[in-house]
Amino acid sequence: MRSLIWFLCVLFFVPRAIGETIHYTIDVDIRPGDHQLEARVGLKLPAATPGTLVFRLHADLEPVITGGHGVLERIEAAESGSSGVPTRTYRLELDKARREIELSYSGAIYHPIKNLADNYARSFRVSPGLIDSDGIFLAGASYWYPVFQLDRLISFDLNVSLPGEWRSVSQGGRSDRDGNMPERWSEQHPQDQIYLIAAPFTEYRSSAGAVDTLVFLRQPDQALADQYLKVTASYLQMYQELIGDYPYRKFALVENFWETGYGMPSFTLLGPRVIRLPFIPYTSYPHEIVHNWWGNGVYVDYATGNWSEGLTSYLADHLLKENRGEGADHRRSALQKYADYVDGNNDFPLTGFRGRHNSATEAVGYGKTMMVFHMLRRMLGDEQFARGLRLLYENYRFRSAGWRDIASSFSRVAGQPLESFFSQWTTRSGGPDIQLGDVSVDRIESGYRVSGLIQQTQTDKAYVLDVPIALQLEGHDQAVWRELKLTERQYQISIEVPARPLRLSVDPAFDLFRRLHRQEIPPAVSQAMGAKKVLVVLPAAVSEPGLDAAYRQLGKSWQGGRDSDVELIGDDQLETLPDDRTVWLLGWNNRFRGLMNQALDAYDYSVTADGVKVAGRSLGQPGHTIVVVARHPGDSAHALGWLATDNTRALPGLARKLPHYGKYSYLGFTGDVPDNMLKGQWRVISSPLIAELPGSRPTSRLVLPPRRPLARLPGLH
Ligand SMILES: [Zn+2]
Repeated sequence: MRSLIWFLCVLFFVPRAIGETIHYTIDVDIRPGDHQLEARVGLKLPAATPGTLVFRLHADLEPVITGGHGVLERIEAAESGSSGVPTRTYRLELDKARREIELSYSGAIYHPIKNLADNYARSFRVSPGLIDSDGIFLAGASYWYPVFQLDRLISFDLNVSLPGEWRSVSQGGRSDRDGNMPERWSEQHPQDQIYLIAAPFTEYRSSAGAVDTLVFLRQPDQALADQYLKVTASYLQMYQELIGDYPYRKFALVENFWETGYGMPSFTLLGPRVIRLPFIPYTSYPHEIVHNWWGNGVYVDYATGNWSEGLTSYLADHLLKENRGEGADHRRSALQKYADYVDGNNDFPLTGFRGRHNSATEAVGYGKTMMVFHMLRRMLGDEQFARGLRLLYENYRFRSAGWRDIASSFSRVAGQPLESFFSQWTTRSGGPDIQLGDVSVDRIESGYRVSGLIQQTQTDKAYVLDVPIALQLEGHDQAVWRELKLTERQYQISIEVPARPLRLSVDPAFDLFRRLHRQEIPPAVSQAMGAKKVLVVLPAAVSEPGLDAAYRQLGKSWQGGRDSDVELIGDDQLETLPDDRTVWLLGWNNRFRGLMNQALDAYDYSVTADGVKVAGRSLGQPGHTIVVVARHPGDSAHALGWLATDNTRALPGLARKLPHYGKYSYLGFTGDVPDNMLKGQWRVISSPLIAELPGSRPTSRLVLPPRRPLARLPGLH
């Protein structure tokens, strides 16, 4: 099970797929109201497995042998598994000649949904296993079937009996479609666990080529189902052409009974609110579809690093942005997250990534990995990169692959060894720091010569890098594009051009994984939220009753569940603002608001009679909730944030929403929800990787050579 980017990441260890699977034939009868299941489980083990086996089962389920020959013995009293589910361990002795047995058991599985908190009190609700009148959620970690301690994947035939109106979902295909019980699910390809989801669903069905497309909703909603069925068909078409045949018989969108964003093989389980967010069909949803190729099609050899999140992000999130001409923005946001959340203390090489636990592990495991695939594609070209993807998928479908396997697949299509590229980016932590200096222009016979020095200033050794640069020339619409091969710390630029050069930009489209300079990044919410040390300055004077308590509550929620230091103080208890940390000013009447106005002097921001004007939009104090981030005037390494409202009821919703708006410099909201009505980033001022040359006008736009997306999405919008 894999999770959408901002939801809980639950990863289960996938063993290497070697040889035959353990095959389960499960007949299960479930009474949701009583939390009860009754199961008969036929097991067929590969001939090569030992005669004595150990398995774990939920402690409430007492198994007995009801078919075949063998001896079953309990060897451990109940103990908690890593998921918190109480389990018991059993030893099973099998007949030498036949590796088959049937076990039967019954009992209750009921672990109510619990809250988990993350950075800035983003909360996740989780259950390791639940049979309830609202619905059923059973996975490997529920131990609802015997889980063997064997290095084997599993396959299954599953017959599910439920109350009349209920429908079940599992991996693979369903053989009968008449809605009669039992429902029969079957997956013969190797799996790491067996999921069983059920509820009184309304089912919608269509198809995309040979693949069944399904939507299971808890409330009938034809329009919503149609929308998902339509985009599913578009995605399947695009990705099958790009990567290879979709590996499962169906893809299903399933509505959960609490808020989740899980991706399982051949289906995704989304919460009722998530499923209806307008952007999900174009963001998280395709991400979950692509996981069927990477993660649930080609399995991850976790011991050597989880590459699947980054590759999935590159082929879903990044590719969709590329289709809208926003690839560079997307890459800059990924690099921005890395700059804001990752430092020498929490960085790690990609070979050490298992799953996302916080913003830092996300910035490395998703963001850096995505950039590595982007650099690989830039190096090989689109055609060869796509061939590499297809070869990797073809060779490792339903098997585990690690970075080494990826390197060898791409080396084969490239016809050159790429091991050093992969080892540089996956076994080292950190990334290059690039500096530009000594830029000068000389008149020469054929035109002009641009000289300059590019340096790698990180403390560890030099990276081998293809550094793109763009030169804007007088009288030319489109910039001249060059890629410089850096193998040492220093590189002397010397480029001859036919017309007067106006501006030199290093890596203007953010094609390299590197540590961004502060000035390349517009001040943004993520910078203020990622800070290790934060002071929240509460207003002594508020306009509405209860608002001071609500602000305090917001500040307190930022203190919970983080590994950083958040301090709260009243603006009347402070003489001056400290400049050694990030500061949040809360409230329209905050005593230090003047500093914010000063910090935003160079940007499109002004104070008006009844509020402020941001990027041309007036935001009046009555009716608007606003968030603005600037660089701290005392030290530009830190952020200065300002958050203000007159609406006490808007603050809880704002606290929930804010982490999702990390890349923005300013935000405007209205109402109690609150609803976003303005978002944007400040313009980048004085990047150290841009040299303005004599005669240039800083306001003129850099026009880069056009690029094609890796694949085009058919028939959307
Ligand atoms: Zn993912």
